[in-house]
Amino acid sequence: MTVDDVLREAHAKVRRIVPASIDISDVEFEGALLVVYTKTPDKFAKNKDLVRTLAKTLQKRIAVRPDPSVLTDPDVAEKKIRKIIPSEAEISNIFFAPDVGEVTIEALKPGVAIGKEGSLLNEIKRSINWAPRIIRAPPIQSKTVRDIRELLRQESEQRKEILRRVGRRLHRGMSDGEKFVRVTALGGFRQVGRSCSILQTDDSKVMIDCGVDTSNDSASSPYLHLPEALPFEKLDAIIVTHAHLDHCGLVPMLFRYGYDGPVYCTPPTRDMMTLLQMDYLKVAAADAKKIPYSSEDVRNVITHCITLPYGETTDITPDIRLTLHNAGHILGSSICHLHIGEGLYNIAFSGDIKYERTWLFNPAVNSFPRLEALVVESTYGGRDDYQPSRKDATEHLKEIIRVAMKKKGKVLVPVFAVGRSQEVMIVLESLVRNREIPPVSVYLDGMIWEATAIHTAYPEYLNNKLRSQIFQQGENPLLSEIFKRVDGPDMREKIINDPDPCVVLATSGMMSGGPVMEYFKNWAKEDQNTIVFVGYQAEGTTGRKVQRESRSISLMSAGEVVNIDLNMNVETVDGFSGHSDRRQLLSFINNMHPRPSRILFGHGEESKCLDIATTVHRRYNINTMAPMNLETIRFV
Ligand SMILES: [Zn+2]
Ligand SMILES: [Zn+2]
Repeated sequence: MTVDDVLREAHAKVRRIVPASIDISDVEFEGALLVVYTKTPDKFAKNKDLVRTLAKTLQKRIAVRPDPSVLTDPDVAEKKIRKIIPSEAEISNIFFAPDVGEVTIEALKPGVAIGKEGSLLNEIKRSINWAPRIIRAPPIQSKTVRDIRELLRQESEQRKEILRRVGRRLHRGMSDGEKFVRVTALGGFRQVGRSCSILQTDDSKVMIDCGVDTSNDSASSPYLHLPEALPFEKLDAIIVTHAHLDHCGLVPMLFRYGYDGPVYCTPPTRDMMTLLQMDYLKVAAADAKKIPYSSEDVRNVITHCITLPYGETTDITPDIRLTLHNAGHILGSSICHLHIGEGLYNIAFSGDIKYERTWLFNPAVNSFPRLEALVVESTYGGRDDYQPSRKDATEHLKEIIRVAMKKKGKVLVPVFAVGRSQEVMIVLESLVRNREIPPVSVYLDGMIWEATAIHTAYPEYLNNKLRSQIFQQGENPLLSEIFKRVDGPDMREKIINDPDPCVVLATSGMMSGGPVMEYFKNWAKEDQNTIVFVGYQAEGTTGRKVQRESRSISLMSAGEVVNIDLNMNVETVDGFSGHSDRRQLLSFINNMHPRPSRILFGHGEESKCLDIATTVHRRYNINTMAPMNLETIRFV
């Protein structure tokens, strides 16, 4: 049966179930959804059980959308919305998504905008036919979030076509061939950086992550020139576990060389990933490095993104179903769980995980309906990789800042824009608020502000405590007055030459470029200054060299080698990591429900992957392995 036959049959079934008085103009696949278009959305909505009956009978997720012909023109619709919603609701923004017939209304007081028992919402729906959604206005506007919304609005026709194509491909049906499941390691095994795996069955081919190793110029890309990966057009889907470049840095390149399918990730991952990919292009251009793609390819990724909140299951190929779960690592980071065949096999890819409640996130999920195999990170899987608690880490940072302030020095903290910086911000805010350190200006340089704005746009992805602090007490520590945004080279220059002590959080986290280098070059020779590492420093990076306190550091600056004398204090505060330490990795596995029968270890230096694989095998009697890049492992 062809996809067109499937659709015709679905249309006939829908027509039979829906009462004749309700119009049905079209039935079409959009990704995994079966979308029913109607010219009488109001009548459809009144019949409350209809969608449930359709979903049950057709065994599909159903979405009902107004036929585009009945949608009021957005300009007129906006005026009507502003007339219906009282000004006390304080609308800050209204944006239309024509591809799904939805209008999102951002208001400072969402309760007022919704009206008693949703009365205003219903009135809006009746008068403009768009489906209204009311959300709380984020306290600081993120340019990335705004640009992405604008792009999706402009490209709504193209986006609709993409979803339609994905849907048709997805419903092509399963073959009757011999079943198999295998995973090929394309990058990020026995190393950190360039994470990439391909999961292949007799019916489908899915890529999980496609990262870049920014610390390695000669082998930065995964092994993509393999028959397993090529041609990229043949891949069914790309899944991005989280926004760090070692997991998503080369996704736009796949589009440049022929990939045209969906990218699955959480909504915050889409936004953060865009921010980091655009920055990667900027930093590489500034360092005169070769760049494998353009901003046009980054935009292509956005229009191909199908976002999924945690816990929502969706079909991504005829025989694979995907669910993303919280990984506790950075905003929107996920463990991807894949259910293959009708109960044939279940495998989860951990991405990077933190199995501890952090200042920002809940611990990684390790309970699944079913699980036979796990592919897990081992960044801190080595024998001695034990880290202090969050509390001890805070004490340590407090002491370092106190001493530095006494010496009237500067404190420079190289950070990833995403994750660690917001965590350090929360700690600094609480130290200042509780008067444990003197009130000090904390400058945020290089995208940290923007990444923070994205965090405030997705408070539902933060941990319970922070969420209640923000929503119930109306206190968002990320918005404290101690934080100041560095808005350009002039301000940076001023901070560098200012005699007063201060704290600077700047990217990049491993000192492989970015504004942190400017501060470092200027402050490294003075011994009253301090540099504090709070995150993982990969082998071969400038960060690692500084951390080892080499006396002289040679840097590439605009194509030339510069030698910098290192006299500043070098400190490392462990315990802020977004990765699980050895104890947490072992208890993540030990407490897993159900316990998988096979585990592959990756995302760690060779000795660490091997060490933890041996330990887990001995301790828990699980079949373990630390595959090398280019190896293929068969599961079924
Ligand atoms: Zn990561
Ligand atoms: Zn990683």
